[in-house]
Amino acid sequence: MIAKNREIPRRILMNEALIERLTPIHYLFQVIKSDLAKRKAGYRGELQLDYHLQFISKDKNIMILNDLRLEIDGRYFQIDTLILTSNLVLVLEVKHISGTYTLDSRFDQAIRKLEDKEEAFSHPVTQVERQKKLLIRWFTKMNVSSIPIATLVVMTNRSTVLNTTSQHEKYPNVVRGGNVEERILSLLTYHQKEYLPIKQVRKVSNLLVKKHTPLIAFPDEIYGILPGEMITGVQCPECRHLPMLRKYGHWHCPKCSGKSKDAHISALRDYSLLLSHQITNKKARKFLHLESRKTALNILRSMNLHSTGETNNKTYHFTHHTASQTAHQSNSSTAKPSR
Ligand SMILES: [Zn+2]
Repeated sequence: MIAKNREIPRRILMNEALIERLTPIHYLFQVIKSDLAKRKAGYRGELQLDYHLQFISKDKNIMILNDLRLEIDGRYFQIDTLILTSNLVLVLEVKHISGTYTLDSRFDQAIRKLEDKEEAFSHPVTQVERQKKLLIRWFTKMNVSSIPIATLVVMTNRSTVLNTTSQHEKYPNVVRGGNVEERILSLLTYHQKEYLPIKQVRKVSNLLVKKHTPLIAFPDEIYGILPGEMITGVQCPECRHLPMLRKYGHWHCPKCSGKSKDAHISALRDYSLLLSHQITNKKARKFLHLESRKTALNILRSMNLHSTGETNNKTYHFTHHTASQTAHQSNSSTAKPSR
């Protein structure tokens, strides 16, 4: 069963919002755009993996945890998918690569060749083995009984041409998406000995979910983009013009004459992705281009955010779910897996 769902990565939502709120001539515009394209491809690969794991995800004795970020001794490590059973733990690393992908153990690298352009990446097997080591340390620290841990690198792009620098290099734990479920089932058949009773498996799974720490960072930390460089205001859902104007309880677009009742929701979502976890009435007025304190108050109240402080000096807090919950309103087409 799926014990932890996969969500659209915050970084994708952040980059999408950032692109809408920077002028195309900004010196980092293209960097952010290509970063976004890479991350979307990675996410598409992860959705492909989910599709390939449909059958085993129905099994109540197999816990599947997606997108884990755990801390050990002040260091964080990320696991694309973790599979937990009574007999075996599996760490899965997903690669969604176009072109030719050559594994080179001699220099511990992977070379991607696309349209005559070569690019080096870290070796995916080294990467997933490192995650395994950190997971073992994490389990030890959390007093989880010892259990065998296996790793798999899953290549989810069907058109990837896989290669090695020499014929002697063998990578039994690199599999194609279409074969991953079969491989997992054969690993589970091979590991017959029970290490954790199912009750314990569920406990460990809950612990992993509880200790998951999503990375929350803003454009100033990632790209050095300051708040003043971003265009504020409510964006027109029809023509994407910024800013819309508030008139008679609605948002009006001066460009296409479009009208919206709730376009501020996605503007506040952008605020939570680009500027801060929290907002005050004054900051909301500035960002949404509102004159009226009362209108801003009504809007903030309608968002059902947790608030702290006195009536006239309230701070409203976004949760890290605010972004993904309202994600359907973005122009993103990332949510659908392609087959
Ligand atoms: Zn418009």
